[in-house]
Amino acid sequence: PLDTAEHPITAYLTRLLDEVSKQNDGAVADYIPELAKADPEDLAIAITTVDGQTYAVGTVDREFTIQSVSKPFMYGYALREHGLERVLKQVGVEPTGDPFNSIVLNNENNRPFNPMVNAGAIATSELLIGATREEKIAAQMDLYEGFAGRKLSVDQAVYASESETGNRNRAIAYMMLNSGMIEGPTEAVLDLYFRQCSILVNPIDLSVMAATLAAHGRNPLTGRVMLTPGQTSDVLSVMATCGMYDYAGQWMFDVGLPAKSGVAGSVVAVIPGQLGIAVYSPKLDAVGNSVRGIQVCKRISDDLGLHAYKDR
Ligand code: GLN
Repeated sequence: PLDTAEHPITAYLTRLLDEVSKQNDGAVADYIPELAKADPEDLAIAITTVDGQTYAVGTVDREFTIQSVSKPFMYGYALREHGLERVLKQVGVEPTGDPFNSIVLNNENNRPFNPMVNAGAIATSELLIGATREEKIAAQMDLYEGFAGRKLSVDQAVYASESETGNRNRAIAYMMLNSGMIEGPTEAVLDLYFRQCSILVNPIDLSVMAATLAAHGRNPLTGRVMLTPGQTSDVLSVMATCGMYDYAGQWMFDVGLPAKSGVAGSVVAVIPGQLGIAVYSPKLDAVGNSVRGIQVCKRISDDLGLHAYKDR
């Protein structure tokens, strides 16, 4: 591989990192107690291209839990294994305009609005295939490892912390059980969801996962086909409209890229056909998006002319 240390892209990312590190707004998530232990000063930016070249700066070795960034990939799995028609029975594709942990289901059909918020992601977790819990967990790990191109593990402390304190997610799951959106048992579905959120990744993993979406479903490092181009564009469309929670509209307006954020402080953005971007910085704004993560993506989109609807 290319030596990226002296590359102009690395130099650009280093300058951007220096600038953005001056931004000190936001606070580390603490509603899952274990997440409060994150170092608020961590900051990393990683870019992986569709031909498998990675450029990364900052605290790139730091592992953190994937949280909601796991959601688009699990949605891709559901589309791949069950088909769109079946998946649409359980989760829609409409933005909520509500926070990520909103307990509101679509009034018309009791469906969760979309797979990027907790309700939709919990319903999607039930679509993992396997005769036993172990088989479902194996399918889950295979999915994320396939996208990241390496073996991954689960942060047991975060997993336990989510499970102990996740009563709002429990309430959401029971609402969906009540309306027949999930079959249950709810604790088994939630267990898979909490585990999915607690998978450990580093910024480079996330950039490879985003690059796999940019490469129409094929992992640029391993060549493994994770999704078809059609499934990939369905995932990207939902990321574009719903990936940044109740900030999704403003995000699309400003940055113009399909993206997903998670409460541990990561943001991924995808430039289809070109590259995946990942930023990690644990201080969040009121919506639950990484403050510096948003700033970095805005800058990259402006500087490189990546907004989907702006002339270059
Ligand atoms: N595990 C977190 C939760 O369910 C995920 C939320 C997020 O990253 N926005 O609350």
